Order: sequence, then C-alpha cells, then structure tokens
Amino acid sequence: MTSGSTGNKCQQSGIYAPNCGCKEIALSKDDTFPPCPTHGAVTYTLVRPTR
Ligand SMILES: [Zn+2]
Repeated sequence: MTSGSTGNKCQQSGIYAPNCGCKEIALSKDDTFPPCPTHGAVTYTLVRPTR
C-alpha cells in the first residue's frame, strides 16, 4: 500500500506527502501515519520509497 491516513500503519518505508500540502515526512515500515500539526487527520501518498 502506497498511501495511508493518520492512524494507519505504514506498509512501505519512504517519503510521504500529506494531501493538505504541508511538508513531506519520512516514515519507516510499521510506523503509524501521524496527524499533520496544522490540519489534524490527513491522507499521505508515497512520494519515494526508501529502505
Ligand atoms: Zn497540513
């Protein structure tokens, strides 16, 4: 899965962009997608996978 919402578990390590347009974040596999500090619950899309 290459996208996820706040509270979901990350299935793929990588750089993710929130749909609110804020700064991209780096997540590792099994991390939980965080809330955006400004917008709360958002959806993230994978920009670039990492190991
Ligand atoms: Zn935001």
